[in-house]
Amino acid sequence: GLEVSGASVSYGQTVAVDDVSLTVSPGEVVALLGPSGSGKSTLLRAVAGLEPLTAGTVSWDGEDLAGVKVHRRGFGLVFQDGQLFPTMTVERNVAYGLSALPKAARRQRVAELLDLVGLAGYGSRRPTELSGGQAQRVALARSLAPSPRALLLDEPLSALDTGLRRRLSDDLSRILRATGTTALYVTHDHQEAFTVADRVAVLDHGRLLQLDGPEALRRAPATREVAAFLGATA
Ligand code: ATP
Ligand code: MG
Repeated sequence: GLEVSGASVSYGQTVAVDDVSLTVSPGEVVALLGPSGSGKSTLLRAVAGLEPLTAGTVSWDGEDLAGVKVHRRGFGLVFQDGQLFPTMTVERNVAYGLSALPKAARRQRVAELLDLVGLAGYGSRRPTELSGGQAQRVALARSLAPSPRALLLDEPLSALDTGLRRRLSDDLSRILRATGTTALYVTHDHQEAFTVADRVAVLDHGRLLQLDGPEALRRAPATREVAAFLGATA
């Protein structure tokens, strides 16, 4: 699994991530939850290898990933929006990471994935012919296609309206579980975090305030900040 140990990231004088340690076990989904500017994206980007650590380590199954390039880390990335290749069909977007497979196997895998995300029959559409929610489903299928060791998702649903976000977070949770996917999931919406994640890491000012299951967080927030954040956004 993933292990983040004493991780810090600074931008000049700004300490965006401050001495954070957490683990994500195989098959587990951990949410990074916190207000705007709390360091969620920075931490995720550091795990992905897009941002250098100023202290600490990120490792996978005991291997320090410090010298390992982004595309060699084996993670799938999903961001808020604007991530599909606009000129490619849905099918070709999903098949993007599957060039090593023979054509028939690739077809088969793409069909399975589109089925998984509820978009069977949408393969020949272009991204401009999809709704926001459909586009995010395609992005999810594409990131799952090469069977990544873990998915790193940064507010994948935040561009969608509230109703759709609730429905899609249920779907997403089901898909991550059905595929046994290990994931780190950034959101500022605690309801979404509680729906999707096995455990939730609450961040504020770059620091990890609490890491616990949804029930424990609701029942016993560790600090006043955690209680306030969970309450304030309810
Ligand atoms: P949001 O919910 O708004 O996406 P976040 O929790 O993802 O917020 P980050 O984007 O990780 O927060 O930002 C954490 C801190 O680091 C903020 O103070 C931000 O201003 C700062 N920061 C982020 N990226 C950079 C950068 N490239 N250069 C300088 N400062 C940055
Ligand atoms: Mg962010």
